Amino acid sequence: MQEVQGLVIRNTGSHYLVLCDDGVERACLAKGNLRLRGIRSTNPIVVGDRVEVKLTPEGGGEAHFIKEILPRRNYILRRAANLSKQSHILAANIDASFLVCTLVAPETSTTFIDRFLANAEAYRVPTQLVFNKTDLLNEEGQAYLAELIALYTGIGYTCHRVSAITGEGLETLSEQMQDKITLFSGHSGVGKSTLINALIPGVDLRTGDISQAHYTGMHTTTFSQMIPLPTSKGYLIDTPGIKGFGLLDMQDEEVSHYFPEIFALQPQCRFGNCTHTHEPACAVREALEDGRIAESRYISYLSILEDKDEEKYRPEY
Ligand code: GDP
Ligand code: ZN
Repeated sequence: MQEVQGLVIRNTGSHYLVLCDDGVERACLAKGNLRLRGIRSTNPIVVGDRVEVKLTPEGGGEAHFIKEILPRRNYILRRAANLSKQSHILAANIDASFLVCTLVAPETSTTFIDRFLANAEAYRVPTQLVFNKTDLLNEEGQAYLAELIALYTGIGYTCHRVSAITGEGLETLSEQMQDKITLFSGHSGVGKSTLINALIPGVDLRTGDISQAHYTGMHTTTFSQMIPLPTSKGYLIDTPGIKGFGLLDMQDEEVSHYFPEIFALQPQCRFGNCTHTHEPACAVREALEDGRIAESRYISYLSILEDKDEEKYRPEY
């Protein structure tokens, strides 16, 4: 055997650990001229990549080489904070991303949720909402949560009602992770680490507040790994600094493509390039009037339109 395909499960900065399709994990180097077309990135290969490895005969002391990256279904990245347009890809081929939200301690705003979802749509990363800390909700909070869940379920997003403390909803969440490459995001303090610890007992995570503190260190930013799930072939991506995905550059009329219920009405607007803000005979604003489009969603949509030109990169998204 001279070549084998595999899955990159760890990136240490100096080499990649590849779980090859013959079941063997091998440390590999990347060939110097490896490049991904169309993406200007500081790092060509990331966890979640499917790669083709050229094997070097064992015992010779030489490394195996990653020859080729197979086409990606999706990827997420962090934009460099400066304007160099360089970006740092964090992971590829994500099957499911879970946005952890809380209505109290701290409160996740619907604007944050919607902006996250729109970016996830743009990156083609299927996303589910995980409302955590349900044990802290009073009656009013429960009612608001029910409303939000009805809203997002209606749009097509799977929602989970969980508590990392009481264990509510964890079984269903765990089922959704089976055999998938998954990613947890969300504001600091919403309970990501607590949830992951409950889902994967004994896991040693670097995400969360602790790694955020080291986040500027070169080593910790390049190091990322996938943690195997105990009960299936799935993996959880563990990478520092994910709060969301970098905001994409998009045209005004493109923003609505990433709000599925707004996009669905677009064909009924008089103008094909309607931005649903001021145009006459706009089906979206009509739907807003009679409650078929939620006001909170429309506000989030406007917020992206408003600041996307001023600020292409916002660290919190
Ligand atoms: P992270 O920053 O998202 O990783 O959040 P942590 O996992 O560190 O959790 C932040 C705080 O919320 C900790 O004090 C946890 O004990 C608490 N917490 C997490 N999940 C729950 C929950 O479901 N219910 C309650 N009451 N507290 C929780
Ligand atoms: Zn319109």
